[in-house]
Amino acid sequence: MTAKIIDGKAYAEGLRARIANAVKELEAKHGLKPGLAVVLVGEDPASKVYVANKAKQTVEVGMNSWEHRLDASTSEKELLALVDKLNKDPAVHGILVQLPLPKQIDSSKVLSALDPAKDVDGFHVVNVGKLSTGQDALVACTPVGSVMLAKDALGKKLEGLEAVVIGRSNIVGKPVAQLLLAENCTVTIAHSRTKDLPQVVRRADLVIAAVGRPEMVKGDWIKPGACVIDVGINRIERDGKAKLVGDCDYASCAAVAGSITPVPGGVGPMTIACLLHNTVRAACAQKSLPVPEM
Ligand code: NAD
Repeated sequence: MTAKIIDGKAYAEGLRARIANAVKELEAKHGLKPGLAVVLVGEDPASKVYVANKAKQTVEVGMNSWEHRLDASTSEKELLALVDKLNKDPAVHGILVQLPLPKQIDSSKVLSALDPAKDVDGFHVVNVGKLSTGQDALVACTPVGSVMLAKDALGKKLEGLEAVVIGRSNIVGKPVAQLLLAENCTVTIAHSRTKDLPQVVRRADLVIAAVGRPEMVKGDWIKPGACVIDVGINRIERDGKAKLVGDCDYASCAAVAGSITPVPGGVGPMTIACLLHNTVRAACAQKSLPVPEM
């Protein structure tokens, strides 16, 4: 079997086009222009690229975008003051504080200071709690994007499937497991202490790999026909060249799976698209408006 390649880049483009239509509709019917403020502290090169991409795509879908770039020496108090100002600004519907933060700042304190209604990254404990109790929540973007791709690949029906999530981080593993539970999957969360991981993965109709270990998941761990969503983004050097690879050994997994996300071009492009999606949802909730179809 050769797996169908799940084209996350194309799916994300389509989603952004639907978001742009929703933004137009909100502006025309209700005079609402959703807005996202992104805060970057310091000079981390990867974070700078992410923040620039977020701002560019926010503007492309017709939303307001604000970038707050603060010096690496910014104190926790200064950052909390900015968060407070953004919380109170009615034009700002979503706030994202780019992680990691410099070591003088306690990230959990900053994330807790965000207004949960504007927490478009879905990391605030109120949103995490709402997700795990089945309430409407702003949910972390990469997990939302991963489940959208799985639903698209599997014809929307995830009910009753055996899903194995590899990784239990707060950013990916745990929220993706909650989303799959809400889709009525039978969910197993595997992690670094799981005994006989290959055997656990073999029972999965849907595998979500979020480990951060290059090409760890091998083709002989995959049940024939399973859907494989590879969240991993790992930079390696091969034949003297820098290369991005996932947590799954793509060639051997693609030979067995029914469908698989490539790296790059799979889950990666979905994250920013889902951030924009969350910002529109947050803006509508703040104005008590129904969320347009996206
Ligand atoms: P993390 O390091 O916080 O968590 C990794 C998890 O993997 C841990 O829960 C750990 O228990 C588990 N793990 C580690 N070694 C293991 C092993 N040998 N066997 C089984 N489980 C093991 O990482 P994260 O933030 O969840 O990110 C995971 C991967 O996803 C990384 O490659 C990261 O770059 C990528 N990522 C991609 C996006 C995106 O596509 N936009 C977003 C977030 C993370």
